[in-house]
Amino acid sequence: ATPTAVMVASGIGASQGVLIKGGDALEKAHKVKTIVFDKTGTLTVGKPAVVSAVLFPEFSMEVLCDMAISVEASSEHPIAKAVVAHAKNLRKKFGSCPEEVPDVVDFEVHMGAGVSGKVGDKTVLVGNRRLMNACNVKISSAAEKYISENENLARTCVLVSINGKIAGAFSVSDPVKPEAKRVISFLRSMGITSVIVTGDNHATATAIANEVGIDQVFAETDPVGKADKVKELQMKGMTVAMVGDGINDSPALVAADVGMAIGAGTDVAIEAADIVLVKSNLVDVITAIDLSRKTMSRIR
Ligand code: ADP
Ligand code: MG
Repeated sequence: ATPTAVMVASGIGASQGVLIKGGDALEKAHKVKTIVFDKTGTLTVGKPAVVSAVLFPEFSMEVLCDMAISVEASSEHPIAKAVVAHAKNLRKKFGSCPEEVPDVVDFEVHMGAGVSGKVGDKTVLVGNRRLMNACNVKISSAAEKYISENENLARTCVLVSINGKIAGAFSVSDPVKPEAKRVISFLRSMGITSVIVTGDNHATATAIANEVGIDQVFAETDPVGKADKVKELQMKGMTVAMVGDGINDSPALVAADVGMAIGAGTDVAIEAADIVLVKSNLVDVITAIDLSRKTMSRIR
């Protein structure tokens, strides 16, 4: 495209909340055949909330909540904030609520899996099945049942282990964006295939995919895995766009022919992307591609 065409299209984009960084992305966007969507915060609203909790024998609700609060309070993850808020509420319901929760030491973040630390004489892990497996914590059949029931409802389960035993779990729900299904269906009518990549587990990701009408799911992928998935699709000869919001999406946003960041996302993702969807509305994925198609057809 000529510099003038790029300037005009960028201006139109900007007025609609679609920031296009340079002509390259604008020129490539009309050729996109596959769009890789991150799940959390991209297809979903990104404001997870705990919708249920379970306590297993031998443990008390007070201890479960206190340990979860102590460890998750040090985490930046949106799931952690949801767990802390819910556990504090439960703590109030179950009688006394000390404002002070015990301090955590040796706090550790396990990327894409959860967090851990020591609280007093207790070793506490808070995270998914993978974290428990990696730390040799056995998941009881009661816990397994709770997990699969909730994952099939598109929820993410947060397990809490204390001294090597699962004490309880929280089920976290993050609803899909209201426009998601419509957008995926419209993209299909434009000849564009949508896929999901996520760090979350397969069952939850599949349930979300079903809700929005996507049939290819790549779950339990770390940041490098997300970028590898983009490259794999490119090697099949496709022009690939990636839409994401997180730090963990930035390698994939860079790898993609067209990286699109959700405006409400992290600065790192916005930095890494070619196009920023300022309104965080998925409809603007279509706006961007449409703008590119119109610009390129005018030129040719
Ligand atoms: P996504 O790709 O969905 O943004 P992440 O890579 O951030 O996912 O995390 C993947 C999974 O790791 C989450 O779905 C959750 O099960 C687990 N996880 C990560 N951080 C935490 C935390 N602080 N507390 C509990 N679980 C966590
Ligand atoms: Mg995300």
